[in-house]
Amino acid sequence: MTSPVGEPPDSPTERTAVLSIGSNLGDREAILREAVLAIAAIDGVEVIAASSIVETAAVKPHGVDATAPSYLNAAVMLRTRLDARALLSALQRIELEHGRVRDERWGDRTLDVDIVTMADEVIDEPGLTVPHPRAVERVFVLAPWLELDSDATLAGFGPVSDLLAQLDEPYRLYRAEPLL
Ligand code: ATP
Ligand code: CA
Ligand code: CA
Repeated sequence: MTSPVGEPPDSPTERTAVLSIGSNLGDREAILREAVLAIAAIDGVEVIAASSIVETAAVKPHGVDATAPSYLNAAVMLRTRLDARALLSALQRIELEHGRVRDERWGDRTLDVDIVTMADEVIDEPGLTVPHPRAVERVFVLAPWLELDSDATLAGFGPVSDLLAQLDEPYRLYRAEPLL
C-alpha cells in the first residue's frame, strides 16, 4: 500500500498483532507453512516473523484427549493497517480455504488461526475478544509468542515469561527452525 503524501511510512495506524496458528488434522506442518504464506498475502498485512513449531496433546472440553491427534502450533507476528474485525474475517477465510469445519467445540481441525493480541487493544464484542481470553492458560500460545518477543506482555495478566513459568506444562519442540 502506498502512503498518502505527507504520511510517515511508519504510520501510527499500522499496528503489530500476534496470531496463534494450529493444526491437528492432515499434513499439519505443511498446513501451518501454507497458513503463514496465506496470512502474508492478505492485503494490508506484513508478516514480520513466525516462530518454531511446538506440539501438544489435544484438549477437549472435558480435558486432555490422548486419543485425538496432537496439535502443532506456532505464533505469527505481523504489522497491519486492518482493524481487528477485518483481520479476523481474512483469517477465517484462510481457515475455510484449508478445509476448516466447525462442528463440536474444540473439535479436531486442519487449521485454526486466533488473534492473540493487537497492539494494546482491548476488545470484548460478540465474536471478537482481544487479547484472546484463553491465551493466558495455553502453553502452545505463550511459548511460541515468547520466542518471537522476549519482552511480550499479555494485557491484564503480565509478562508472558512469568505466565509461561507459572503454567509449567509440557510441550515438545517439534521443529526448531522458525516457520519464516
Ligand atoms: P478458542 O477460542 O478457545 O481457541 P476455537 O479457536 O476452537 O476455540 P473457533 O471455533 O475457531 O474457536 O472460533 C469461535 C469463534 O471465536 C469465532 O467465530 C470468532 O468469532 C471468535 N473469536 C473471538 N475472539 C477471537 C479471537 N481473538 N481470535 C479468533 N477468533 C475469535
Ligand atoms: Ca483456538
Ligand atoms: Ca479459532
